Amino acid sequence: MEYVFPAPQTPSLAVEGTNARFPVGRIFCVGRNYAEHAREMGHDPNREPPFFFMKPGTAILEGKDFPYPSQTKDVHHEMELVVALGKGGANIPEAMALEHIFGYAVGLDMTRRDLQGEAKKMGRPWDTGKAFDYSAPCSAIVPAAKIGHPAKGAVVLEVNGQVKQKGDLAELIWKIPEMIAFLSTLFELKPGDLIFTGTPAGVGPVQKGDTLKGSVAGVGTITFKVV
Ligand code: MN
Repeated sequence: MEYVFPAPQTPSLAVEGTNARFPVGRIFCVGRNYAEHAREMGHDPNREPPFFFMKPGTAILEGKDFPYPSQTKDVHHEMELVVALGKGGANIPEAMALEHIFGYAVGLDMTRRDLQGEAKKMGRPWDTGKAFDYSAPCSAIVPAAKIGHPAKGAVVLEVNGQVKQKGDLAELIWKIPEMIAFLSTLFELKPGDLIFTGTPAGVGPVQKGDTLKGSVAGVGTITFKVV
């Protein structure tokens, strides 16, 4: 096939223990999936089930510093466990969901909170708040074949050595198999799709010069600077 100009490169992530890379397809993100975070954003976690939004492949940032984005004065960190699908499908039963997972990573759903807030108020889409370039810093993927499927474990984010976010995977409102099953009723999932599983309480602003260090116990860590 000949293109009229060079086709964009497929975004990808390193895979621990191999030189082969994980090609990234779509990036799905779950909103309000920890009760404490739903409360801190002014919502009742009992009446509002989680929902999904997306980031494009251009959001992926791996092994580099995070460039403070344009048109905002309030960029927030959201530390999250990331699920990486190795198999796709539609209407995947919950009991078979874990078999579709290639591995896990740790990532941040960086957010222009001011633009997201405006969009919420006006009933507009969240894209400018959520889907900007490099808004999804992500670690290498660790195969599930190595670490299994984590259902509990601390999710922590430190800014300049101070703990800002702390939660546990056990507190996820929607568990990973439930998320995959539900998402697969809305989209035919594909190998390469990522799911950012939501953030625990403690989200807050970052400044140029800050060092962020995030971890999910049993999965990995990610460290980068805001520049
Ligand atoms: Mn998030």
